[in-house]
Amino acid sequence: MISYTELGLVNTVELFKKAVSGGYALPAYNFNNLEQLQAIIQACVETKSPVIIQVSSGARKYANQNLLKNMAKGAVEYAHELGCDIPVVLHLDHGDSFELCKDCIESGFSSVMIDGSHFSFEENITLTKKVCEFAHSRKDYVSVEGELGVLAGVEDDVSSEHSNYTQPEEVEEFVKKTGVDSLAISIGTSHGAFKFRPEQCTKNDQGILVPPPLRFDILEEIEKKIPGFPIVLHGSSSVPMEYVKMIEKFGGKLKDSVGIPEEQLRRAAKSAVCKINIDSDGRLAMTALIRKVLAEQPGEFDPRKIIGPARDELKKLYMHKNNNVLGSANRV
Ligand SMILES: [Zn+2]
Repeated sequence: MISYTELGLVNTVELFKKAVSGGYALPAYNFNNLEQLQAIIQACVETKSPVIIQVSSGARKYANQNLLKNMAKGAVEYAHELGCDIPVVLHLDHGDSFELCKDCIESGFSSVMIDGSHFSFEENITLTKKVCEFAHSRKDYVSVEGELGVLAGVEDDVSSEHSNYTQPEEVEEFVKKTGVDSLAISIGTSHGAFKFRPEQCTKNDQGILVPPPLRFDILEEIEKKIPGFPIVLHGSSSVPMEYVKMIEKFGGKLKDSVGIPEEQLRRAAKSAVCKINIDSDGRLAMTALIRKVLAEQPGEFDPRKIIGPARDELKKLYMHKNNNVLGSANRV
């Protein structure tokens, strides 16, 4: 058993307080390999942004929990070496059971999500409360994210055909009864790179699909019920067309992929939304560059020369997110 403070990590409590009062959101970037983590830390050090590095249960299986734990420790030391001690949170994304959350907490995570959104309201409360009681009773307080409302789309093991918007009348009771530190809500974001069916979208003058706008009215209602409480948005990739086009140019197929426009995320980040999850955009950036290198340099077989440019592009993308979308730059 190990506590996150031994790894140099922090929980989300103080970071969220600052983010809510400062009108910005923390980046929550998923990782499961070395190059992603290098890109995340380099981008956040250069923009002086606090960061949540998160791992899904699928990523944990893929990469191995011991390696991930030590990568998180290494991330803290790497940031220091690069010259800026940015706060780093290690977070479990979409924990689906008490046991998984407990296991992560005991192996060095500083924050966990328990996703009981697929259960009934009462069952969600019972499960989330159980995780909170365990997480909060540790010597080092571990923060817990709960979820109300269901997002559509596919993310690792998590998938849903339909979305259900969060009901504002439920949030106060949920927060009070569970003791959660933050709440993920559903206001029209969606997991994956195919967030909406074409018939749900309109087209702009360049023929690019434009999704239905986020439900800021629901967000405002929620904020009225639980003023200043940290809100989390999942499924918040924007699916940049430059990457989609590059992937398709070099043989990929991503017809009808569509994301959330960055202006809407910037608007959300200025509210009580203080954590925004971005995963698919990073996957697209890396895939685009890997395809480009393989197509343009068919003789190349050094993985560093193939993945290295993808890592550099990922860093560029995350610097852009911190600077222009989340507003988390220069907050350290
Ligand atoms: Zn999610």
